[in-house]
Amino acid sequence: MRVLVISDIHGNLEAFETVLEFARQEGGFDEIWCLGDVVGYGPNPNECIARLRQFRHVCVLGNHDAAALGRVNVEDFNPEAQEAILWTQNALTRPSRAYLEALPERLQIGDYTLVHGSPRDPVWEYILHPNTAHAQFDHFDTPVCLVGHTHVPAIYHHFLSNGRPVTTWHYPEPGEVYTFHDPDRWIANPGSVGQPRDQDPRAACVLLDVKERRWMYHRIPYNIERTQYLMQQAGLPHRLIVRLAYGW
Ligand code: ZN
Repeated sequence: MRVLVISDIHGNLEAFETVLEFARQEGGFDEIWCLGDVVGYGPNPNECIARLRQFRHVCVLGNHDAAALGRVNVEDFNPEAQEAILWTQNALTRPSRAYLEALPERLQIGDYTLVHGSPRDPVWEYILHPNTAHAQFDHFDTPVCLVGHTHVPAIYHHFLSNGRPVTTWHYPEPGEVYTFHDPDRWIANPGSVGQPRDQDPRAACVLLDVKERRWMYHRIPYNIERTQYLMQQAGLPHRLIVRLAYGW
C-alpha cells in the first residue's frame, strides 16, 4: 500500500491541491494519512476539510483543530495565531466542525503510530530536538511513529549502540528515500503542507510504501501569492501572510 503522508495543511488549499496533483503524477496513492492541523492560519479551512474527505484517509487531531473547536484557551497562542483561530472558529461550517469533533488524538495502523505532536502528549508537545525525541520511545509500541506539529521535516532514529539506546536525527533532502529498517525504531515528520517553517516555503509531503517502510520525502512549489491574496481578502493577520513566502 502506498500512502500520502501529510501534516499541517492549515487551511491552505492552494498548497494542498498542489501536493495532491504532485502525488498523482508520482504514481498516485491508496490513501492519505494526515497528522493534524487541517485548519488554522489559512483562508480555506472548510475547503481543505472537504477536499481531504474526498479521499480514503485517516486524520488525527491537531492543536489548531482543537482550538478551532473552542476546546483550548486561545491565550495559549501568540497574538496572530489567536486572531487566526478566532477567524477560523467563525468560518467553520457545521459539517467541518462535526468532522473535526470526531478526530482521534492517536491512531495505530500496523507498524505505525500516528499523532500530531508526540506520542507522550499527542496534541501539544513539539519534537524539535533529539533529547525530546529520545524520551518518546517508551510511549508507543510500533516500530515507527509519525508526527507533525513542528512544520519541520525530520527523522529520529532510535537504536542500540554498545547496548545503550541512543537517538540520532536527520533532516532529509527533498527527493530523498529513507528506509525504516528492523530492528531499529523511528519518529518521522513529513513537514507541513500549508505553512513550512524550515526556511523553505515549498509545500512538503511524503509518499510512504507502508510494507517496505520506504519514506519518500518531497518539496513542491505552489502558488504562494494566491494563498496570500486570499488571506488578505479574509483579513487575516499581516505577519501570517508574509511568513508564507519565507517558510518560517
Ligand atoms: Zn501546525
